[in-house]
Amino acid sequence: MKAAAFEYVRAASLADALRELKDAKPISGSQSMGPMLNLRLARPGRIVDVSRIADLRAVSEAGDVVRVGAAVTHAEIEDGKHALLRHPFMQHVASGIAYRAIRNRGTIGGSLAHADPAADWPLALSALDARLELSKAGATRQVRAGEFMLGAFTTLLEDGEIITAVLLPKLGPTLRWGYYKLCRKTGEFPHASAAAAFDARTGLARVVLGALDGPPTALDELARRIAQHGPAAATEEVLAQAVASAMPNADGIDRQIHTAALERCLAQAFGVSSANTV
Ligand SMILES: Cc1cc2nc3c(=O)[nH]c(=O)nc-3n(C[C@H](O)[C@H](O)[C@H](O)COP(=O)(O)OP(=O)(O)OC[C@H]3O[C@@H](n4cnc5c(N)ncnc54)[C@H](O)[C@@H]3O)c2cc1C
Repeated sequence: MKAAAFEYVRAASLADALRELKDAKPISGSQSMGPMLNLRLARPGRIVDVSRIADLRAVSEAGDVVRVGAAVTHAEIEDGKHALLRHPFMQHVASGIAYRAIRNRGTIGGSLAHADPAADWPLALSALDARLELSKAGATRQVRAGEFMLGAFTTLLEDGEIITAVLLPKLGPTLRWGYYKLCRKTGEFPHASAAAAFDARTGLARVVLGALDGPPTALDELARRIAQHGPAAATEEVLAQAVASAMPNADGIDRQIHTAALERCLAQAFGVSSANTV
C-alpha cells in the first residue's frame, strides 16, 4: 500500500516550521510516521519536515541542564556524537532501540511525540525527570517528561505545537541507573520495561515502569523507600506490590514479567560491581 497524496514542506528554521504547521502534521525521522502514512492510518493533507532545522539538531549546555534538540537521532546518542550526551545511561538506552537502520533516522523528539507505551525515551526521560520544551507560534512552555504522555499515542501537544528540545539534567559520576527491557526478539518493542535513576548529589530518586497499557508509571513510594533505606528495602514482596499498584487490571503473568524487569533493573543500578556508575 502507498501513502495517500500529501503536500510536503521542509522547514528551514523553527519560525518557518511553526508558521507552516497550521493544519499540518510534523515529521522528523519518519520511522513511525512513514509506516502510518503507507498503511493510511494517518492521512494528513500536509506534512512539515522538522528534521533539518539547526536548532532542533543541536545539543548545548543551558545552565544546569543539557538542551537536546528534538531532531537528534537515536544513533547520534548511541555513538556519543555529542560530548554532552556521552553518558552510559543515554548510550545504553539509545543502542537498545529497534535496530540500527531505524536508529539512524528515528529521533528523540519523534519518539516522545509518537508516545508508544513501550517506547524507550518516554520511560528513560521520565526516570531522569527531564523536561520537554514545547513550542508553537508565539509561545513556548516546559513540561515534565513524566507528565507529557497522557495515554497510548496521546500527549499534551496542542494543534500546531511541536517538541523543540529535551532539557536533560546533567548526568554525572554519582548517578546510579538501571534500564531493563524484556523483548521477545532483539529489536522489537519490549513486553515489559523498567528504569531507575538515583543520585545522592541531586536528590534524584525515580523508578519507572514502562510497556504498560498507558504512559510509563513512576513508582514513587518504592523510589522513596530505596532512597531512604537502600536497595535491600526493595524486597520481593515490596516489588510485587509496587507492580500490582501500577497495573491493577493486568493478569498474574503480566505482573510477573514486569516484576522481573523491575528486579533486573534495580540489580543493575545497585549491583555489587557498580557497573552502572561512571
Ligand atoms: C520496526 C520498528 C521497531 C521499533 N522499535 C522501537 C523500540 O524498540 N523502542 C523505541 O523506543 N522505538 C522503537 N521504534 C520507533 C522508533 O524509535 C521511531 O524512530 C520513533 O518512534 C519515532 O521517531 P521519528 O523521528 O521517526 O518520528 P516520526 O516517525 O517522524 O514521527 C512520529 C510522530 O511524532 C510526530 N513528531 C515527530 N517529530 C515531532 C516533534 N519534534 N514535535 C512534535 N511531534 C513530532 C509526528 O507527527 C508523528 O505523529 C520502532 C520503529 C519501528 C518501525
